[in-house]
Amino acid sequence: MIQLRLSEENFEYDVRGLVMAFYPGEEIQKVDWYAGILPEVELPEGTDGWRRQLLVQYNMVQIVMVVNRRDEDGQEIQPIQGAVPVDISDRTATKSALKRLLYQLLNQDTGKVLPWGTLTGIRPTKIAMGLLEEGKSEAEVAEYMQKEYLVGQEKTQLSIDIAKREKRILQNIDYENGYSMYIGIPFCPTTCLYCSFTSYPFGKWAKRADEYVEAVEKEIKWTAEAFKDKKLNTVYFGGGTPTTLTAAQLDRLLSCVEEHFDFSHLQEYTVEAGRPDSITREKLEVLKKHNVGRISINPQTMKQETLNLIGRHHTVEQIKEIFAMARELGFDNINMDLILGLPGETIDDVRNTMAELKEMAPDNITVHSLAIKRAARLNIFWEKYAHMSMENSDDTMEVAAAAAEELGLKPYYLYRQKNMAGNLENVGYAAEGKEGIYNILIMEEKQSIVAIGAGATTKAVYKDGRIERANNVKDVELYLQQVDEMIERKKKLFADFL
Ligand code: SF4
Repeated sequence: MIQLRLSEENFEYDVRGLVMAFYPGEEIQKVDWYAGILPEVELPEGTDGWRRQLLVQYNMVQIVMVVNRRDEDGQEIQPIQGAVPVDISDRTATKSALKRLLYQLLNQDTGKVLPWGTLTGIRPTKIAMGLLEEGKSEAEVAEYMQKEYLVGQEKTQLSIDIAKREKRILQNIDYENGYSMYIGIPFCPTTCLYCSFTSYPFGKWAKRADEYVEAVEKEIKWTAEAFKDKKLNTVYFGGGTPTTLTAAQLDRLLSCVEEHFDFSHLQEYTVEAGRPDSITREKLEVLKKHNVGRISINPQTMKQETLNLIGRHHTVEQIKEIFAMARELGFDNINMDLILGLPGETIDDVRNTMAELKEMAPDNITVHSLAIKRAARLNIFWEKYAHMSMENSDDTMEVAAAAAEELGLKPYYLYRQKNMAGNLENVGYAAEGKEGIYNILIMEEKQSIVAIGAGATTKAVYKDGRIERANNVKDVELYLQQVDEMIERKKKLFADFL
């Protein structure tokens, strides 16, 4: 257990994030501060049970830190300590200085080097993109990321490469008069073990799915009317798994979109078909008929034992069959999602998955590092899987990156989440011209996204760069009852925008 003692609440979130990155899976306990000036404070009673104790004291002009340590037998060993001068009136600089000091002490304690340095929650490409847009050279961006955030050389280069690609892809997107639309279908055939999205097993809702489609249509029609003077740039059906709906329900929704919107500025139309066990020829034909250009068929892994373990009730063969069927029907922009760090998977399993993907040759591959969030069932059943390795590493990420490169796919978007296995990242790779524009827009937060359906979050990006959000309720029953209220929330949010 790691104990945290902070003399002030300040920056607790950042301290926790970095501590978690150095000691993954370790319990963190916050305990009260007690009087005394570091580093000479005497430990009070009731401090048993910790392996490391981090003391952070904020003064007007400096931050002092001490890491008290115990060996495996519980004997105290030489603490590590340090201090850094700060100007607390400058919060951003203070936070950076604090995180650098903390990083150095924890690096000294564990010997670990974090590839992303002190960056725990930030989107690294956003930093690189911002600096490039300010006119900074690549060398200046690299220097800043390495000095300010201690990011390693490889990740710095990856961030810069992706930021440059994003900049090029987004150059034709109209931020001021354009917008994107997300439609969420929160149903899946079954719930995956690691799921942290809004998803309900379709079996329970099948009888009321028509009601859901109706409510979504209501939001679609409102959006079309409210945004009639704006340009629709991208449409994304996600979830859940949109193809859990029947072919007739999909047809109804896609017809509604087609009927009510002007597609002349549309640059991308995606339906995340997702789980192979939800896809049929008939549904793919419906998507094709409505000119959906980009779909996802997501294996997550090509190892059958893992698919069984994580609750995805489909076979490896089914993935291949559905992929071949989609190609046969003319889909030439197919994404495949993978997760690295799934329970029990080794680097050889990842090599095998990538070899199978190379045979299919998708146009996009999105590689996720397993992120265990609080809501995930994997977390609930943590003890059951604790004996299995759930580590992702730079080496497995490298296997995926090399396979993507062999397929001619380049990294084009990247994001990080908390609690990711190995504190790594998610990377999207794509063939030239087949990048998911919506994926970039959602990460870089440069354009408003109207989000429809249960659990969807609408984001308004105002002219001054301010971002405000409106959430739709997650519960399907409540969503059905309150769809008018969801529309009202959006009306308010966009009052100045439209
Ligand atoms: S397919 Fe995705 S949204 Fe559906 S249960 Fe699995 S992880 Fe959750």
